[in-house]
Amino acid sequence: MFYKQYGDTDMKVSAIGMGCMRYNMEDVNAGNLSKCAEVALYAHEKGINYFDTAPFYCDDKSETITGIALSQLPRDSYYISSKTNLGTVGGKHTAADFRKRLETTLQRLNVEYLDFYHLWCVLSLESFEESLDALYGFFEQAKADGLIRNIVFSSHMQGDELEAAVNRNLFKGMLIGYNALNYRFRQKGIEAAHKKGMGVVVMNPLGGGLIPGNPDVFRYLTEGTDLNVAQAALRFVASHKEITITLNGFTTNQHVDEACKSVENLIEKPAKELLMEYENKGIALNNLCTGCAYCKNCPQDIDIPKFMDAYNQKILGNDMKSRIKHHWNISANKAADCIKCGNCEAQCTQHLPIIDRLEEIAATCI
Ligand code: SF4
Ligand code: SF4
Repeated sequence: MFYKQYGDTDMKVSAIGMGCMRYNMEDVNAGNLSKCAEVALYAHEKGINYFDTAPFYCDDKSETITGIALSQLPRDSYYISSKTNLGTVGGKHTAADFRKRLETTLQRLNVEYLDFYHLWCVLSLESFEESLDALYGFFEQAKADGLIRNIVFSSHMQGDELEAAVNRNLFKGMLIGYNALNYRFRQKGIEAAHKKGMGVVVMNPLGGGLIPGNPDVFRYLTEGTDLNVAQAALRFVASHKEITITLNGFTTNQHVDEACKSVENLIEKPAKELLMEYENKGIALNNLCTGCAYCKNCPQDIDIPKFMDAYNQKILGNDMKSRIKHHWNISANKAADCIKCGNCEAQCTQHLPIIDRLEEIAATCI
């Protein structure tokens, strides 16, 4: 395993971290939580020492499963991270509400403290400021009480906004979505964070499965390596000097082995150099749906992620109509039910014009 320094701390973390949101759902549903935990133990055996979880992952069982694994390991052999935000802190967002959420997480994870606690999923600078006002003081108190070691944030903001968030000088690190599709739009943010001595953790390095799902489009990433497209996409992210940890979700031990292979003999390069190296190769798009499903509560019951996935196919030069009809087996008529309430766009982690796209789908595919 390749290890990196986490920002300006003395923590040595594995270049690949385990994103604990891909436990085997058949086992989760059957209540075989100890069986699920085996993959986390295997990842640790292979040198992975950073585990990222959150409430609600895997039907709200991820923290518990991860805790089963961690309880079998020496406390100084891993770093554990979880998350909270206004949505997970119930009641009136009081200090007691915050503490209750944190204590539930600690209890589930079987630990006395978290190494990293995220202000979770900030979508815009406006919500960043709102969350800071409401919660940052509680984070500081929990740190002073020894319950968390480092205060960090996770965000889906773009480069400029990320830079502004970083410049508040309030966080030890950040977690952002970054991959071969959107890197040009987020580089500013990682460079700013690196300069400030912050750790940078990356989620969604495979573009929500879009990169391995379109191997011909992304084959250029594998040039000069013996890696497959998914591994090469992980290596691309991990090779950024500014990026500390690249998170990958594992369901099986084979997934762990594949991810570990992707960072063997890793050579780190500054983001600017990588940008020049890949500038004329492949495509870099920031306007694809990643399938994160944050937009799923549509009052008209429109299955937005499926329609947006079909629209991705159009952007990638494939047949959108066939994707709707044959792959998803849904009716394009449903796209016309949108009442333009805007709920989905406010939640979209990619800031996509969902309403316009649905309109286009209704106009061209019915
Ligand atoms: S804008 Fe349309 S698609 Fe989005 S949540 Fe509202 S009704 Fe649903
Ligand atoms: S439309 Fe946006 S929020 Fe919905 S699944 Fe796609 S990226 Fe996620």
